[in-house]
Amino acid sequence: MKNHFDVLIIGTGAAGLYGALHISPEMSVLSVCKGEILLSNSDLAQGGIAAVTLDEDKYEYHIEDTMIAGGYANNPESVYELITEGPKDVMNLARLGVEFDKNEDGSYNMTLEGGHSLPRILHRKDSTGNAIVTTLSKVVSKLPNVTISENTQVIKLVKEGGMFFATLLIGQEQSVVSADYVLMATGGIGRVYEYTTNSKIATGDGIVLAHKMGAVVENMHLIQFHPTAFAHEDRERLLISESVRGEGAYLLNCNFERFMHNYDERCELAPRDVVSKCIMQEEKKTGSNKFYLNISHEDPKFVIDRFPMLYEKLKAEGFDMTRDNIPVYPCQHYLMGGIRVDLNGQTTIEDLYAAGECTHSGVHGNNRLASNSLLEAVVFGRMAALEINRKFKENGKKAPVSEPADMIEKCGNTPLPHGYRTKIRHLLQKGFYVVPDVEAAKNSINEVKEIQKILENKDFVISRDLVEARNTAIIANIILNDVINANS
Ligand SMILES: Cc1cc2nc3c(=O)[nH]c(=O)nc-3n(C[C@H](O)[C@H](O)[C@H](O)COP(=O)(O)OP(=O)(O)OC[C@H]3O[C@@H](n4cnc5c(N)ncnc54)[C@H](O)[C@@H]3O)c2cc1C
Repeated sequence: MKNHFDVLIIGTGAAGLYGALHISPEMSVLSVCKGEILLSNSDLAQGGIAAVTLDEDKYEYHIEDTMIAGGYANNPESVYELITEGPKDVMNLARLGVEFDKNEDGSYNMTLEGGHSLPRILHRKDSTGNAIVTTLSKVVSKLPNVTISENTQVIKLVKEGGMFFATLLIGQEQSVVSADYVLMATGGIGRVYEYTTNSKIATGDGIVLAHKMGAVVENMHLIQFHPTAFAHEDRERLLISESVRGEGAYLLNCNFERFMHNYDERCELAPRDVVSKCIMQEEKKTGSNKFYLNISHEDPKFVIDRFPMLYEKLKAEGFDMTRDNIPVYPCQHYLMGGIRVDLNGQTTIEDLYAAGECTHSGVHGNNRLASNSLLEAVVFGRMAALEINRKFKENGKKAPVSEPADMIEKCGNTPLPHGYRTKIRHLLQKGFYVVPDVEAAKNSINEVKEIQKILENKDFVISRDLVEARNTAIIANIILNDVINANS
């Protein structure tokens, strides 16, 4: 692999791949990802992608739904950009080969999800994210100007003389590449929690890389807890998509009674943060953390056809979703905060761009509206790419800069002992899980700082595990700090 590229894209989820697709063909691009190309949160997305495509829908309705869900803490300009640009990108995905479900008359089959005032979610059965990234990865792999490097973790990023230098870890080997522009598309932070719906890549690496460079990282306490993850003991919890409630499923308490009407007139289709908090209140009332989803009143054939992936996965766990109550509980799902970006995906560091879940673009406010994040990933991935193209056209290639001396991390001999990451996750969960606990957060933060110091020990072998443990500690520290500040 050569060691200089015009653009380095870190991440091959929806934001990174769609960004790569829009970089102009005369620029060389290196796209890297930590695992296999499809291992990402994007691949796990089930429900769909929201966009105004029906005659009876209007931009204003989607904007208003987004603002209501976000508690009007959204940035109106970025919401406007998301919603007015989004339909173009969704139709482009269809043109590229994403086969969104259609009705018999050929029109798109729209579904409804919590917080949307009308059905506007395009979907591919219950595996929409997989359909999108599979299509995009095929298209991007064929681009002659894009080199894709899998199982390649960026462990260090610095800017020197206007040029970016990144240390890549492939297995145990480190190497350095330089780039004129960087697009950070590293996704979320779910694996900093004990229980999350997120993929194992979601350890906040890109946010830490940007933070260490001095980029503004903000609103990290804005974390979405999805109300209906399947309540089993695995760390990566199976999400029971919002669209299951959208298609009529009831949320039941430990007595198998519906309860949402006691808290919110939108019942099961209230926004996610509302439903998650209602579950916690109901738990206090009944003294039980047992909650269930039930869609057995709908036609079994419809349920199996509409949710084939969920049906099979739940069946493997011993539950028939056409008949049984499915145990659910809130779970970490999405990060609304992150690296601050403007409408072009520009961070506060010149020529460092970011898109997707690692960013705070302001589109989601305090709470993301369902199916708006795949949309954010593609719209802002494209915006960032177009801005990089514009700057490249205006300024040409940058003058070469020699590699800084300390890019390769010294590797010690001691393997990372087990247990640090587990401890960090536990401490964070105590401080903030659906409802913040400021006193617990204050206690947790001191312990996290102690672990952080231990992890900086130079004797440890440099490994993906070590880098992720360090990043996890830094992310937990930032979140706990923001939780304390936001609630004091
Ligand atoms: C279970 C589940 C269901 C969801 N359902 C929906 C839905 O229906 N609709 C919707 O809109 N949203 C949904 N979401 C949210 C949405 O999928 C994500 O927010 C969005 O796809 C994030 O895209 P991304 O490109 O920013 O990040 P990701 O898709 O997570 O991609 C991150 C990429 O960064 C790479 N990476 C990370 N760190 C490094 C590093 N140090 N070095 C190199 N590479 C790195 C990873 O390998 C990966 O390729 C869901 C999320 C989950 C978890």
